[in-house]
Amino acid sequence: DIATTDVLVLRQMQPEVMEALDGRFRVHRLYEASDRDAFFAEVGPHILGLAVGAQTPVDAALYDRLPRLEIVSNFGVGYDTIDAEEAGRRGIVVTNTPDVLTDEVADLALGLLLSTVRQIPQADRYLRAGKWPTKPYPLTTTLRERRVGILGLGRIGHAIARRLEGFDVAIHYHGRSRQTEVAYTYHATLLEMAQAVDVLMVVAPGGPSTVGIVDAAVLSALGPDGIVINVARGTVIDEAALIEALQSGTIRSAGLDVFAKEPLVPQALIEIDHAVLLPHVGSASVHTRRAMGRLVVDNLISWFDGHGPLTPVAETPWSPR
Ligand code: NDP
Repeated sequence: DIATTDVLVLRQMQPEVMEALDGRFRVHRLYEASDRDAFFAEVGPHILGLAVGAQTPVDAALYDRLPRLEIVSNFGVGYDTIDAEEAGRRGIVVTNTPDVLTDEVADLALGLLLSTVRQIPQADRYLRAGKWPTKPYPLTTTLRERRVGILGLGRIGHAIARRLEGFDVAIHYHGRSRQTEVAYTYHATLLEMAQAVDVLMVVAPGGPSTVGIVDAAVLSALGPDGIVINVARGTVIDEAALIEALQSGTIRSAGLDVFAKEPLVPQALIEIDHAVLLPHVGSASVHTRRAMGRLVVDNLISWFDGHGPLTPVAETPWSPR
């Protein structure tokens, strides 16, 4: 019976999600527990479903405390903080929220690119500081004649590429495999792509396979007019190497929505005035966050109604028996 299905929420999620969960499940809230061990001892054995917000670690130690867990429903398309392979080994399904956020994140990526190239936030700060009457804002770099390399031509990467076509720039991409149906220039290695472009858009997933792959050599290959945009995960870029490259002029600038240790942003980055820094807002519109929340709940409902998960991740594929 779905109304007596026990679902665990680790950290408070948005009100619509909590309301929808309360309407269908018996919801247990870890964040309201004063004694976590006592909480897990009492409710852990009953929990069948888990709803998690982005960036909340879910690992073997947690699975151990939830022996009957069937499904982890993640808020967000990135699930690098969830040990999905371990879930797969235990027969636990993991779901995420693909597609519903693709256009929103692609819009933000383009906004970040234009902001970085044309120094839009800096120009705004300049005007507000009353400097305009004294002297015009200095000339900026341009998107004209640029070659853009997309690291990770997936759902969001494709949406970014479609938008970039309107900007009339050359589009290159790197991923583990060539995509036969696209006309963009493929590079088998990231370094080779970095040598061929002067803008690097990072949209590959986080996790062990991508940690620090945008390293000092890749940054240096972009050259002194190089621009790095990251809307993926902070871990994909070697952050120390990026700071060094920005300080030394190895590359021109960076536009970052994500950082290695969020919400902490290195002071050295904050002091680089020509970089554009955003507090991980890629999908953060009312419209899109609502759609993501609905999908988190709908995955759980579909599963416990016996219809399977709506959007399982690759590590825990599911097909009807
Ligand atoms: P997809 O899975 O559709 O696309 C990921 C792409 O990355 C694929 O094209 C894949 O191609 C490529 N890729 C995967 N692993 C590697 C690797 N080791 N090296 C190079 N390329 C790789 O994901 P989405 O487009 O839906 O999302 C991408 C990421 O964006 C998410 O994982 C998430 O972390 C981030 N994101 C950030 C948001 C924000 O708020 N800033 C919001 C939403 C998402 P191939 O298989 O050929 O390698």
